Amino acid sequence: MISELAAALPADSVLTDPDLLRSYQRDEADLCPYGMPAAVVRPRETAQVAAAVTIAARYAVPVVPQGARTGLAGGANAVDGALVLSLTAMDRIVDIDGTNRIAVVQPGVVNAALAKALAAHRLRFPPDPSSWESATIGGNVSTNAGGMCCVKYGVTGEYVIGLEVVLGTGEVLRTGRRPAKGVAGYDLTHLFVGAEGTLGVITEITLALRPVAEESLTLVAVFPTTTAAGAAVAAIADAGSTPSLLELVDRTHLAAIEAYRPMGLRTDAAALLLAAADTGPHAAAELARIDTLCRRAGADEVYTASDPTEAALLLAARRLAYPAIDQLATASFPDGSGGVIVDDICVPRTALARVLDGVARIAAAHEVMVGVIAHAGDGNLHPNIVVDRADPASVARGRAVFDEITELALAVGGTCTGEHGVGLLKRDWLAREIGPVGVRVHQAIKAALDPANILNPGKVL
Ligand SMILES: Cc1cc2nc3c(=O)[nH]c(=O)nc-3n(C[C@H](O)[C@H](O)[C@H](O)COP(=O)(O)OP(=O)(O)OC[C@H]3O[C@@H](n4cnc5c(N)ncnc54)[C@H](O)[C@@H]3O)c2cc1C
Repeated sequence: MISELAAALPADSVLTDPDLLRSYQRDEADLCPYGMPAAVVRPRETAQVAAAVTIAARYAVPVVPQGARTGLAGGANAVDGALVLSLTAMDRIVDIDGTNRIAVVQPGVVNAALAKALAAHRLRFPPDPSSWESATIGGNVSTNAGGMCCVKYGVTGEYVIGLEVVLGTGEVLRTGRRPAKGVAGYDLTHLFVGAEGTLGVITEITLALRPVAEESLTLVAVFPTTTAAGAAVAAIADAGSTPSLLELVDRTHLAAIEAYRPMGLRTDAAALLLAAADTGPHAAAELARIDTLCRRAGADEVYTASDPTEAALLLAARRLAYPAIDQLATASFPDGSGGVIVDDICVPRTALARVLDGVARIAAAHEVMVGVIAHAGDGNLHPNIVVDRADPASVARGRAVFDEITELALAVGGTCTGEHGVGLLKRDWLAREIGPVGVRVHQAIKAALDPANILNPGKVL
């Protein structure tokens, strides 16, 4: 396979040096298995992706597509002997069309690079995962990524209107449209959104754009209990308010962020809610309403950022949650053996307070440290479970906590993953959530598009 790849592709795009291969083995998910690929291909054009997949299919070798490997579910992890297709060199913005409000991009374009290019046209692709400075649009589409502004603007899939995809057979499929509307045929585009590389390799993406947002105003509300913070979120939604951001940071993360980068956060609070409004001249009134609702729900302090720099600092603090909890975990055990199992559940907003209480109860029962950050306005929680990787009993307790939290999410009508995807981490839970008929339909779709089961096998189902 490797000599055929070398003959078909530019010399510098096929990597076989074991030291280089090792850096393509896994994503950011802790405690997920990964193997050693046989080769990594770094294509620049769709034809090179098609050639690589065709050759891999001939040898029945698994193909693992990768973006920036910031994934948190093990979806991009290599399996032994696989061909890794790293799409990061396909990083061209092919077109920005202001009149039709669309952009056409290769999958390796980084989210923040696209944001910068679009801003010059006063346009915007809203989904903004906290990893936006490194994650690729191909990865965002393949995980249907969310982010902080999704409470108002929706997740990645809502902006994907067309795709070019290389199927497991090596054929190139074009889906979707460029015009503002179009209903021709089945909605194949959204079959690939969130498919985590199991149905095809995305080689080009057509995105619907929005005009650049109005400047926003931001507030912080400090709560003595997470229950009160959860109740405030429900009250804000109930009142018909449309914040452009509504995030929760709990006490564990406040302490972690303050230790990672001191910025004067209230570490005595049980939880902070960060809210923003970007409704231009109406933003101050919108924020005043959110302020009142937070106080009524029990906030003991509400503070509005005085200028955009201060607001940006608050958001930066929220974006530091992952590296901060990682550092806290490392520092919590001797020899730096601490690790974090990042969970991702989404529940109805009405159940948020109950689930926050439930997570705290589960953590206490197992004597495991669990910090929660949440895209609270969407009911999307990330319980971050701190374990000692060197101690199997600690890892087992962490996994029990993970399972009980996911069970709780399903019990209140939620889902096992709100944005990180199934990958390796949630395979059993997906089957439970969608049931036997759902599993059968998933399998039928997979068999139709990837008959030899070479695309990211073992992920999702
Ligand atoms: C600090 C941090 C913060 C994060 N914050 C958020 C957040 O706020 N919201 C959120 O949703 N996620 C978040 N994530 C998770 C992660 O960044 C997202 O899942 C992101 O969309 C992954 O993009 P990537 O380019 O790194 O893809 P990868 O991790 O490389 O791949 C992700 C999945 O997509 C598949 N894939 C990648 N490219 C392609 C392609 N071209 N064709 C087919 N399949 C492909 C892979 O096989 C894999 O299954 C965060 C991660 C970190 C480390």
